[in-house]
Amino acid sequence: MQQEKQLQNMIRFVYGNVPYYHKLFKELKISPDDIRTLEDLRKLPILTKDTIKANWEDFKPANLASMKYYKKTTGGSTGTPFEFRFSKPDRFLSVSILYRGWSYGGYKLADKMVFLAGSALNVGTESSIIKKTHEITRNLKKLSSFDMGIQDMENYTKIINSFNPRFLRGYASSIDFFAKHIDKKNEQINFDAVFTTSEKLYPHMRKNIENVFSCDVFDGYGLYDGGVSAFECQEHNGLHIDTERSIMEIVDENGCQLEEDTGSIIATSLHNFAMPFIRYDTGDMGHIIEDQCGCGRESRLLKEVLGRSVDILVTPEGKQVHGWFFLYIFWEYCKGIKEYQVVQISLEKIVIKIVPDDDFDEKQLDIIRSVIYNKSHGWIIEFNFVDSIEKTTAGKHKFIISKLND
Ligand SMILES: [Zn+2]
Repeated sequence: MQQEKQLQNMIRFVYGNVPYYHKLFKELKISPDDIRTLEDLRKLPILTKDTIKANWEDFKPANLASMKYYKKTTGGSTGTPFEFRFSKPDRFLSVSILYRGWSYGGYKLADKMVFLAGSALNVGTESSIIKKTHEITRNLKKLSSFDMGIQDMENYTKIINSFNPRFLRGYASSIDFFAKHIDKKNEQINFDAVFTTSEKLYPHMRKNIENVFSCDVFDGYGLYDGGVSAFECQEHNGLHIDTERSIMEIVDENGCQLEEDTGSIIATSLHNFAMPFIRYDTGDMGHIIEDQCGCGRESRLLKEVLGRSVDILVTPEGKQVHGWFFLYIFWEYCKGIKEYQVVQISLEKIVIKIVPDDDFDEKQLDIIRSVIYNKSHGWIIEFNFVDSIEKTTAGKHKFIISKLND
């Protein structure tokens, strides 16, 4: 089995090159030969973000200087910002897997697609020229889900009508919201398929999107940091779990693999040699099933990914802002921030709870404040420093919350 061969390769690599794992194997009195199959993985403990942060230097492979890699920050879908390295070959692989995932919905390379998702904060690294080149060479257009006022959406409608794309991709809640707008305005926009990503796609959202845009919806799941991904096929029986880049395990609270149940999504990277994660806790929960899909693909099915629910916030100016706007802010300015939670208390007031780390610098708050001010002049931002943020029953906290409809 190809996946197990890659696993053995990775295990030998981390034992020989990554101090953290070398020590861990010694402590557990096991050798690389003890980890040969997917079942063998249970001999190793679950790896948490806290462990990685606490052993940061020990996660650097001895030959890191000779590798090509990117530095990435993930806001995580759990509100725990986190920096990691992403090797170049692994990134290429991730892109080809993404394209294959879209192909389940009929996408072919260079087909026109519109994105309705997070956009640069205009303070980040990607200049607008680079962004435009990206858009032209890849035949896609990016619309911001952080700006969804009526005027913005009318603009988006015009752009879509003149660009005439086959596909729409983006955050489930943003596409659902946009679909409602199109419906209300009695506009007509059709796609060949809609791809939703990054957050929970509720059945009512799927139905609404399908009705308004007269096409099927294909849900997808993917994580930068864990390297795991899964995509829905035309049978819509669940999301097919990809096996080339990583191993995805669904485990119970004792770290035991589940064959058919809900548990934590655990990722083992098979190609990210710049920062290998073995049994990494993604912070997400998934429901795995034993059914075989009628499409003929043999990969395992993830029926559902849980706990990816994000609220949409509203500015006093009446603009809808997808909650991930704040996740993007903490992607950029995560230094010294252990955890955070954003709560919209009223139309005017946003409370941001922060669990600071030792190296937290208060100057970051001014920058964060100014990025938010660019989005809405009306919001009053209050920062609260706390020791911890209470978890919900799923063992994780919802990190962007709107109390407007309570
Ligand atoms: Zn299938």
